[in-house]
Amino acid sequence: MIKIATYADRKVALLGLSRTGIAAGHALLAGGATLLAWDDAPAARERARQCLGPAAVIDDPAQIAWSEVASLVVSPGIPLHFPKPHPVIASAREAGCEILGDIELFARARAARTEPTRLVLITGTNGKSTTTALLGHIVAAAGLPVAVGGNIGTAVLELPALPEQGVYVVEISSFQLDLTRCSEADIAILLNITPDHLDRHGDMAGYVAAKSRVFDGMPAAGTCIVGVDDSYSRHIRDDLHADGRPVVSLSTGGEIAQGVFVRDGTLCEVEAGAVHPQMDLRDLPHLPGRHNWQNVAAAYAAARALGIARGQICAAIESFPGLAHRMEQLGHIGNVRFVNDSKATNADATARALSCYTNIFLILGGVAKSGGIDALKPFFPRIAKAYLIGEAAEAFSATLADVAHVICGDLENAVAAAFADASRQDEAVILLSPACASFDQFENFEARGAAFCASVDALRQAAQAKGGAA
Ligand code: ADP
Repeated sequence: MIKIATYADRKVALLGLSRTGIAAGHALLAGGATLLAWDDAPAARERARQCLGPAAVIDDPAQIAWSEVASLVVSPGIPLHFPKPHPVIASAREAGCEILGDIELFARARAARTEPTRLVLITGTNGKSTTTALLGHIVAAAGLPVAVGGNIGTAVLELPALPEQGVYVVEISSFQLDLTRCSEADIAILLNITPDHLDRHGDMAGYVAAKSRVFDGMPAAGTCIVGVDDSYSRHIRDDLHADGRPVVSLSTGGEIAQGVFVRDGTLCEVEAGAVHPQMDLRDLPHLPGRHNWQNVAAAYAAARALGIARGQICAAIESFPGLAHRMEQLGHIGNVRFVNDSKATNADATARALSCYTNIFLILGGVAKSGGIDALKPFFPRIAKAYLIGEAAEAFSATLADVAHVICGDLENAVAAAFADASRQDEAVILLSPACASFDQFENFEARGAAFCASVDALRQAAQAKGGAA
C-alpha cells in the first residue's frame, strides 16, 4: 500500500467507497488524515465502516464544514460535471475545496518519496488494458521491479511501494484524468480517441480535453507517446510537438518520419531517420488483429523510453500470455470457434473484433453508447447472423435491418441460438463482442465474459457427452 503523508492531522472528505475509494481511505488513514467518507449506497457505507473503521464514515454529507476540509477525494465513477455534478461535489466546489482523484494522490505520494521510481500512464478509448498488461510483462521480463494497476485492476494506492528503479505501469481512464491535474508521469501514452462516455464529458471536446490531460504536469524531459491513426490524437500530437515536448508517434497505417510504426504487419522503429524493422506481429497468438498492432507499438515505444533493449522487448512481446475478455480465444467445438471479447463496450472495439474474422455469429447488446452500432455498418458483410441481448436489442435490430438477426433476450439464449446455427457451417466463429456496457444484465464486463465462458463450457460438455454416447 502507498501511504499519503501530506494530510497528517487534516480532514479529507472521500466520496465513493468502492475499490478505489477504500484504497484511498486506507492510504490517507495510514498517513494520519481524518476521514469524512461517504457513499450514496448504504451497503458501501457499511462495508467501509468495517474496513476503514466506524469513525471514518459520516452520517450526512450535507453537514460537512467545507472550510475545515483540506481536499475532497472523488471516485472516478461519480459524475463531476455531467449529466450533473454529484451534490457533494457541487457543495465542495462552491466552497472552493480542492477536488482530486486517486492518481493525483498517488503522484503526490511518489513525489514525497526519496527512492527514484518511474511512472508510465496509459490512456486511450480502446487498448488501455492490453497495453498496460503488455508493458508490465515487458518490464518484468527485463528484470526491473514493476507494479501494474490503476483502471485495469489494483487501485494505484494499493500498489506496493517500489524500490529504486521500480516502474509503475498505470492505466488511467478519462474519468480519472478529469480528477488529475499533475500526474508527474515520466512517460504518458495516448493510444487513440473515438467517441465514448459523452454522457460524462458533455461532448466530444470535453472527452478529448480529458484525454489530452494525460500529458499535463509531466517533467520537461518526460516522453509523450501518441497514436496518430485518428485525427483527434493527431491534433494532440501536433500541439505537443509545437510546444517542444519530446514526442514519439505511433502509426499502424505505414511509415512515419519519426517514432514507431507497423508496415504490413512488421513493427519498425525509426531512429535518427533510419528504419529498424523489429518483428512480425501477424501471428502473435495472444495479440490477434490489427488493433493490437497499435498496443504493441505503444508498449514497445514505452519500453524503449525506459531503456530496455530491443531484443528483450521483442522476446517479451512473443511470450505475452494475453488478457481475459479481450479477443480471448476459447477454442473450438467441432467447426465452431468461440471468442470472448466481452470488454468491447463500444462500437469501435467491436469493429476491430469483426475485422479479424468472416462468417461471424455475433452476440451483441446491453446498454448502448451514443451512436449505437452505426460504426459497424462497413463490417456487416462479415456477420452471418447477429444475436441481440439486453436493452439495446430493439435499436440494434433497426440498424442491422437486412443483416440476419434475432432478439434473444439474454446471453444464455443467445449462445444456444448462435451455436445451433453456427454448428451447421463448415467453419464459423461465435463472437461475443457486445459494443455495449453490461450493467443492464451483469455487474460488469468480467461477469458478462465469465457467463459466456460458462455457457461455452456447458456446450462443450454436452458435445463431449454426445460424442461419448455415440
Ligand atoms: P480498454 O482498457 O481501453 O477498454 P482493452 O485492452 O481492454 O482496452 O480492449 C478493449 C476492447 O477494445 C477489446 O474488445 C479489444 O478487442 C479492443 N481493442 C483493443 N485495443 C484496441 C485498439 N488499439 N484500438 C481499437 N480497439 C482496440
